[in-house]
Amino acid sequence: KYIRAYITRVEMGGIFGTIVLLVDVTYNVKAEKMRQEFTANVSHELKTPLTTIKGFGEMFGSGMITKEEDVAKYGAMIERESERLLFLINDIIRLSEIEEHTEMLNTPVALEAAAKNALQILEPQIQRNKIHVRLEGDCLLLHSNEGYIRELFINLIDNAIKYNNPEGTVTITIQHLGTQAKIVIADNGIGIPLQAQSRIFERFYRVDKSRSKQRGGTGLGLSIVKHIVDCHNGTISLRSELGHGTEITILLPAK
Ligand code: ADP
Repeated sequence: KYIRAYITRVEMGGIFGTIVLLVDVTYNVKAEKMRQEFTANVSHELKTPLTTIKGFGEMFGSGMITKEEDVAKYGAMIERESERLLFLINDIIRLSEIEEHTEMLNTPVALEAAAKNALQILEPQIQRNKIHVRLEGDCLLLHSNEGYIRELFINLIDNAIKYNNPEGTVTITIQHLGTQAKIVIADNGIGIPLQAQSRIFERFYRVDKSRSKQRGGTGLGLSIVKHIVDCHNGTISLRSELGHGTEITILLPAK
């Protein structure tokens, strides 16, 4: 705990005393620490691809790269790093928008249709990795925000594809359980080691930087999902076994 003490000397009718006020500032200190960490992470994450782009740009400019195959190779690297930068900036903007709660949760959203929409957007990745997709859905309308729900599905299904094996399976289940909507996204992919499981919802946390970079992640997907779940007063939980797969369960209040 962080405690701040305020001390004032007082005098009333000839009696002298001291007032000591102790304030619990743990929340403020933690928030400030998180903000500093976030800024440091953002700067680092932005600098890495920019340094690569700048380096190759300079090499092109000075005429060092002349062979046709090198032009293609380094050109593709510039393109890949620029794309990573764009994804990252998009995710950072999205995260801060969601944190500010600017959007209303007052539109009826059909969960199954939102999942199908996300699958359509991810179709190229599904095809490329030969992923088998199963969608089992109850017809369920949720008072929410269409963009948020689409984003939630896209991020989770994208991970279930990215961290899967070729020809793996992704199962999406949507159930209406009394006053709750239960969404489960399961894969039989590479799984998450036990020691990382409590941290994967943190901003920029990646289990293994190299596997994530190779698969094109920003480390922000799950923290965006967690924020979306939080602003619905819902819960998100995880079950995963290394080498066997991952299952993410979300419960959202539904009338
Ligand atoms: P990223 O953009 O790196 O995918 P996320 O916030 O979406 O970031 O996920 C954080 C980390 O959690 C990832 O880097 C990855 O290592 C791990 N992870 C997320 N989803 C899965 C999954 N379905 N299977 C295995 N690992 C996962």
